[in-house]
Amino acid sequence: MSGTRVLVAGASIAGPALAHWLRQRGAEVTVVERATELRPGGQAVDARGVAKEVIRRMGLDTTVRAARTETAGAYTVDADGNVLETFRADDHGGDGYIADIEILRGDLSRVLYDDTRDGVEYVFGDRIAELAQDAAGVDVAFAGGDRRRFDLVIGADGLHSALRAMVFGPRARFVRHLGLVLAFYSVPNEFGLDRWLMEYQHRESGRTALLRPIQDATRAMAMFSFPAADFDVDHRDIEAQKRLLGERMAGLGWLTPRLLEHLDDTPDFYLDQVAQVVMDRWSSGRVGLLGDAAFSSSPMSGGGTGLALVGAYLLAGELAAAGWDPEVGFAAYERRMRSFVEANQEIGRMHVRSLSAPEPGLAPEEWDMELIERAINGVELPDYAG
Ligand SMILES: Cc1cc2nc3c(=O)[nH]c(=O)nc-3n(C[C@H](O)[C@H](O)[C@H](O)COP(=O)(O)OP(=O)(O)OC[C@H]3O[C@@H](n4cnc5c(N)ncnc54)[C@H](O)[C@@H]3O)c2cc1C
Repeated sequence: MSGTRVLVAGASIAGPALAHWLRQRGAEVTVVERATELRPGGQAVDARGVAKEVIRRMGLDTTVRAARTETAGAYTVDADGNVLETFRADDHGGDGYIADIEILRGDLSRVLYDDTRDGVEYVFGDRIAELAQDAAGVDVAFAGGDRRRFDLVIGADGLHSALRAMVFGPRARFVRHLGLVLAFYSVPNEFGLDRWLMEYQHRESGRTALLRPIQDATRAMAMFSFPAADFDVDHRDIEAQKRLLGERMAGLGWLTPRLLEHLDDTPDFYLDQVAQVVMDRWSSGRVGLLGDAAFSSSPMSGGGTGLALVGAYLLAGELAAAGWDPEVGFAAYERRMRSFVEANQEIGRMHVRSLSAPEPGLAPEEWDMELIERAINGVELPDYAG
């Protein structure tokens, strides 16, 4: 056992996945999560290509598959509901638009947490308040009052990472908005949805509406996006966000008026700018970043979960291979990940641009297939000892 003490901030996808590999490499891992319990629900996320291989190496292939959404595929439709295009979950070997491993973020988080909870210390309802590093370690003061020392600290605390702001600089320096706002919330499934997702794109205005079954098709998730270069609604003011969504979706057609009727009775609601995180470095001394905190590719890339899973494997592997020397380990992790991240970020930006393209979708030959392959499989997974 190395006994290296690692503190990880964030218990969603990147945090517990990293905890799995760090523990396997002999580290003592503490994960601190701001929420008072594991956050359930959320949007559907996908694992494709090399991310599926990481799940397999974690020994979680069967468990993850058992928790999948079982979405059969997606239709794009016109305003009257006529089907324009069909995408099946088994297209492109399961690595297509709807991936064969599609799972709600909260369900994947639960699988990763259950897998690690026995060998990892999880602290819920707390966060890092202050941190000071020296040549030999990092002193951490928690908001709840504890003070502890660690060898390494990793931020897996998402797009709005507090650790990134604390160590690397203000949010505005790294978070790039792509000019699109995304909102989603659940509604009763009064639309007869079974295992198929429906998507309506209004090209003239660049707006989209999407509906997918959730919870054994007893409910459905409505998702909307609209262009917005400037966006200044308060993150905490849900009522203002709902008003904004209602205004921006006015006149959209399709099922939109019926979906908007549920804005007042939905138990959940999310609205945010679609953004990416772009940084020159993902580490500073003994502090590193992983997942959306370091390199969010945006929901529009369909690759954020894959990046988090693959990054967790490589970060733990390279740190251990470097004998837990942060400078050597973090540098090797970055070298391996950089081009994979850039490919996924480029896909995210292309997808946003395609929403306002004059023709429905982009013809397959117009997509850069080499780029897509790089975004799915473009990273080597070394066979780390142990
Ligand atoms: C609408 C939407 C659709 C998406 N669709 C897809 C998709 O189709 N395919 C795909 O692969 N990905 C998708 N993603 C992206 C995917 O959800 C993320 O890339 C993935 O969850 C990254 O995980 P993460 O662990 O890095 O960050 P997050 O999931 O954001 O988790 C961060 C965690 O840190 C916690 N936290 C925050 N601040 C602190 C703090 N100060 N201290 C401690 N803990 C803290 C949070 O509570 C949270 O639990 C989508 C995302 C969204 C929003």
